[in-house]
Amino acid sequence: MFELPQLPYAYDALEPYITKKTLEFHHDKHHQAYVDKVNGLVKGTGFEGAGLETIIQKADGGIFNNGAQVWNHTFYFDQFSNNPATAPEGNLAEAINRDFGDFEKFREAFANAAATLFGSGWAWLAANTDGSLEIVQTSNAANPLRDGKKPLLTCDVWEHAYYLDVQNKRPAYVGNFWKVLDWKVIEKRFSN
Ligand code: MN
Repeated sequence: MFELPQLPYAYDALEPYITKKTLEFHHDKHHQAYVDKVNGLVKGTGFEGAGLETIIQKADGGIFNNGAQVWNHTFYFDQFSNNPATAPEGNLAEAINRDFGDFEKFREAFANAAATLFGSGWAWLAANTDGSLEIVQTSNAANPLRDGKKPLLTCDVWEHAYYLDVQNKRPAYVGNFWKVLDWKVIEKRFSN
């Protein structure tokens, strides 16, 4: 049985950029619903007892959609802080400069990927097996792990992630996203 992880900060910790109201709905309702649904769907299937990464790599249909959404949301919520490092350092900073030109060019390209993703989905920074970094757009629940890439950061662009705060203004949400994204977390993911 999968369980909903608690948020690693208080519900109001990311105010005013991501509000308490959004986190209450996004974590307590949406994330919880994905946990409950995948737990129900795997019963009696070959995925009962499987880990979420196995589900992401091998499942299809509702098991994939709900299992991937559990993983994606835990990964998303874990990368924020009310006292974030607002830029990468060290090896990650070097890799971003190497593959995107500089940090500002990376942020522009990532924000553009998040803003232009049609419909519901996720924008990702992911590492390829050769170590190169790539910005990836995925629809609905899809996750770069399925394609053998290592996710480093993600922006949830389903409307439920931002509509209570900024209504239809997805670029404004992405602007707020940078204010609470903690690059120390991303550096740890990159070095693991
Ligand atoms: Mn979401």
